[in-house]
Amino acid sequence: MVQRELSVSTRARAGEPVRTCVGCRQKGLAADLLRVVAREAESEGFALVPDPKRRLPGRGAWLHPDPKCLSEAARRRAFGRALRVSGSLDSSELDHLVGAVELSEAGHSGL
Ligand SMILES: [Zn+2]
Repeated sequence: MVQRELSVSTRARAGEPVRTCVGCRQKGLAADLLRVVAREAESEGFALVPDPKRRLPGRGAWLHPDPKCLSEAARRRAFGRALRVSGSLDSSELDHLVGAVELSEAGHSGL
């Protein structure tokens, strides 16, 4: 018997906003998740814009800054659903940011 649910929720403290990651669907503190908004792209479709300062207007989607969560969200088209946009979504800015996070944390650890 393993009680996974308990271990997931213990990090949330009272009064802190909790959001659900669009990638892995796990809940986490808003402070631990990256806010992402959609901006109309110049050509067509939308661009996903990371909003680490959470200042951009409009609907936001929340994602762990983790390449696994990003690819999972992209695979399921979770951003389009969360942000209520359809058509093509350009995630290059987000790819860059999330990929950079991974590199800075694990790139030189010599695993
Ligand atoms: Zn996640």
